Amino acid sequence: MRVCQITGPRQVEIVDRPDPEPRAGHVVIAVRSASLCGTDVHQYDARLPVEYPRIPGHDCSGIVSAVAPDVATVDVGDRVAVKPSFPCLDCRACTHAQFSDCANKRLIGLWSDGCLAESLLVPASNVAVLPASVGFDAAANLEPFTVAINTQRRLGLAMGEWVVILGQGPIGLGQTRIAVLAGARVVAVDPRPEARDLARAYGAEVTVDPDADDVTTAVHALTNGDGAAAVIETAGVAATVELMPSLVRKYGQLANVGIAAGIGSLDVATVVARGLTVHGIGGNGGKGQYEAAIALIEAARIDPAALVTHTFGLADAAQAFSLAHNKTEPVIKVVLHP
Ligand SMILES: [Zn+2]
Ligand SMILES: [Zn+2]
Repeated sequence: MRVCQITGPRQVEIVDRPDPEPRAGHVVIAVRSASLCGTDVHQYDARLPVEYPRIPGHDCSGIVSAVAPDVATVDVGDRVAVKPSFPCLDCRACTHAQFSDCANKRLIGLWSDGCLAESLLVPASNVAVLPASVGFDAAANLEPFTVAINTQRRLGLAMGEWVVILGQGPIGLGQTRIAVLAGARVVAVDPRPEARDLARAYGAEVTVDPDADDVTTAVHALTNGDGAAAVIETAGVAATVELMPSLVRKYGQLANVGIAAGIGSLDVATVVARGLTVHGIGGNGGKGQYEAAIALIEAARIDPAALVTHTFGLADAAQAFSLAHNKTEPVIKVVLHP
């Protein structure tokens, strides 16, 4: 099979590797759509430590091409989405069937070879079968919505509350859409016009360009000076993290989703004085959340394919990574069709 591998910082090459064989409990997927997420881009630009060579990629969909004899849950020909982490099956969470909370879970494409390839070998428990109406590009972009479903379950907001979402990349946009479906009134913040346009299409009631307007003033004007019920941070930069306490009302909630080196810190004195609750939302969606996102696509409540701005063949993977890294034109999501 043809694969894309990262061989060093900003070094991408297309090579042949042996076709994977389905070992016990596993299935082989012919990859149809694979999206690049921040993790892949940080493998490419070496902001994440990574072994070389590595086939990156964990967000994908495709058609099952082979199954091990002991697999009864999936058949050859099934259209599937891939859940992006392998649980250890051994830790406290795994032994309680909370696989998404596994203490040792390993992202596909980071600790093992990933989906930027013609074929991918995964445990049968890592696939979710797709209804006929769910397209491959939608199914390769589930992760932002599963993270957002996880976030809303943690926040448990009442209907009609104001929620500020900082950053409208794919993760922030998924947060915007799911918060709207959960009954929130969303203020979406991002300096990029294309991101604010999609936030409005996803149902944000107000968008703010932080380069043009003061975010705190805007949020206080909408909330009678109280602040929002919750603030969700997805940009992963110090400026937005440190802005969070000024946007939330007393006894409100903060959800930190963005993560990167040099992310800044929350002011604990403010957290205590204002009675705030802080949630760390790691990982890529909990038990049942991939299935929930697929059901929402089928019901036409979410449209993950709308995130896709650029599509490349596998042979052009170097160009795809360069665009996702350098953002030389307006980019939300880059997908590859191996
Ligand atoms: Zn991802
Ligand atoms: Zn585990």
